[in-house]
Amino acid sequence: MKSFNHFNAKSVREAITLLKNHKGRAMVIAGGTDLIGILKDRILPSYPEAIINIKTIPGLDVIEESAAGLKVGALAKLADIARSQKVKKNFGVLAEAAKSVGTPHLRNMATIGGNLCQDVRCWYYRYPHHMGGRVICRRKGKGTCYAIKGDNRYNAILGAKSCFAVCPSDTAIALSALEAKIKIAGGDGTRFISISDFFTPLGNSLNRDELVTEVRIPNPPQGCRQRFLKFTLREPIDFAIVSVASVINIEDGVCGDVRIVLGGVAPMPLRAKGAEHVIKGKPLNSETAEDAARAAVSNAKPLSRNAYKIEITKVMVKRAILSEGRR
Ligand SMILES: Cc1cc2nc3c(=O)[nH]c(=O)nc-3n(C[C@H](O)[C@H](O)[C@H](O)COP(=O)(O)OP(=O)(O)OC[C@H]3O[C@@H](n4cnc5c(N)ncnc54)[C@H](O)[C@@H]3O)c2cc1C
Repeated sequence: MKSFNHFNAKSVREAITLLKNHKGRAMVIAGGTDLIGILKDRILPSYPEAIINIKTIPGLDVIEESAAGLKVGALAKLADIARSQKVKKNFGVLAEAAKSVGTPHLRNMATIGGNLCQDVRCWYYRYPHHMGGRVICRRKGKGTCYAIKGDNRYNAILGAKSCFAVCPSDTAIALSALEAKIKIAGGDGTRFISISDFFTPLGNSLNRDELVTEVRIPNPPQGCRQRFLKFTLREPIDFAIVSVASVINIEDGVCGDVRIVLGGVAPMPLRAKGAEHVIKGKPLNSETAEDAARAAVSNAKPLSRNAYKIEITKVMVKRAILSEGRR
């Protein structure tokens, strides 16, 4: 690992000032479970000259209820989110997603801010520099996406244009189904942004002097069905091949508000709007679930080695929406 300067920020303001002063040559560290690997393998074309530790900022690890919903600080650990009664009570899909991440050790270190901001796991993008040189690909600003013609079995089948790496964050999929907003602090003040606007085809929309400070989740309809399901190759320590988060409100026996979000299949959390449309106003049964599953993948454009994800997605969508889930 190359050397860098290390700063313990005492406040959000100090972290922003440090980011600003380093003009794009500094990175934030929270749990470090993603960043340390990136630095060790030197996968990025430029190496940060400073690392700004935000774990030293007090009060950023809260999990708090309010009349409007739930506030989760960027430093809240995934383990705490997974076992929090406040989360489990009304935001079960998020508790399930947090619990599905990695191992207990990892969840005890990883923060929700870091989980949302983590880098992709595409093996071309992540190729270690010490094994013959890092791969400079479309996501790193130059050239092509090597997955298009290469070994693309874990890459996107939906919604990708220039980079086919999939969004690695499980909590992003659940938060998207809950219509959460991310609070961002930076040199120009604070702003709130939806999950769909936070993720971009090649990363996220943070400016170089900004950091995530909080996630705000509005209260979902009382008693709505919530589910997060994930298909992995190596149970239980693995990234999603496919995941599905669903939040469905049943009113008078038919689906009212419906949100179905797919993970592991697209560069960003992907709202399956076709599937939502199919079941809205209808009762949930195996027939409507089958129709929704088909609609969820109707726009799929698999690469040479990942068409298998289509069938898995259909099964996962069907299972998620038919499952009673957490209420
Ligand atoms: C073995 C293994 C298995 C894993 N399995 C899964 C899985 O199943 N599902 C899943 O979702 N993830 C998985 N992960 C990824 C893991 O969840 C992430 O590494 C973790 O959530 C990152 O959180 P962190 O606090 O450690 O972030 P860090 O490693 O500290 O940071 C990650 C990135 O986010 C940036 N960052 C961190 N916090 C902020 C902030 N508040 N504002 C702005 N930028 C910030 C950092 O600069 C860095 O770029 C796995 C990782 C490993 C090593």
